[in-house]
Amino acid sequence: MNIYRLAVLNDNYVFVLHDPDTNTAAVVDPAIAEPVLAQLDALGADLVAIFNTHHHGDHVGGNSTLIKKFPNAVVYGGQKDRDRIPHQQFFLRGGDQVSFGGREAQVFFVPGHTYAHIAYYFAPTNDQGGELFCGDTLFAGGCGRLFEGTPAEMLASLDQLRQLPDDTRVWCAHEYTIGNLKFALTVDQDNFDLQERMVTAQAMRQRGEPTVPTTIGLEKRTNPFMRWDTAAIQRSAGIDIPDRVFARIRGQKDNFSG
Ligand SMILES: [Zn+2]
Repeated sequence: MNIYRLAVLNDNYVFVLHDPDTNTAAVVDPAIAEPVLAQLDALGADLVAIFNTHHHGDHVGGNSTLIKKFPNAVVYGGQKDRDRIPHQQFFLRGGDQVSFGGREAQVFFVPGHTYAHIAYYFAPTNDQGGELFCGDTLFAGGCGRLFEGTPAEMLASLDQLRQLPDDTRVWCAHEYTIGNLKFALTVDQDNFDLQERMVTAQAMRQRGEPTVPTTIGLEKRTNPFMRWDTAAIQRSAGIDIPDRVFARIRGQKDNFSG
């Protein structure tokens, strides 16, 4: 399975998955259709699946146009997103499996950003590592805003993702990394891995390179929203109850304008 990362709109990433053996493709969170159609055209591939993580317009905006072009493509989304995702045909729950390109993806129910949000995890195979498509739940250096969920829900969602192998690649849906790391440094100043990551990320952005994908291991070491149980983050939050630690740093990030 090859993964193509398309940068669209202001800061969105859309992912086209391509299986060279069958020359079929799937797309994760098509914000808009045109760049996806161009990529499919370049590959000469047939679109067979749309994997949506949640209903926001910058994740499903391309569904209708893509379905017009590829009427046989199957649209997947969360069970609780019924009536919110255009053309949705499959209503997934945590623990469900979907398949593409000879690989199985496990579905995680990860509410917090929205109440229906799901993520797709392709477990490693003999020749490829694990791949996580997590929409607006986990970002490089941060996490999604809590539009429809509580801090406790988001913490539980991120805790599920935290259990994945460290080398799992994390394909998040936005390029928010520099802003996230600026905030992270305000609550985790002495974290050497984080300081080093900021330098690397800034250099990448200056070269015009994406910082996505990241990995679960890097997020565990440097993302404050994956580190609610570390002494450094608890000290910064002034409290050691996980939900409250999480709520406090999420609140600080909401008001952060670095
Ligand atoms: Zn969203």
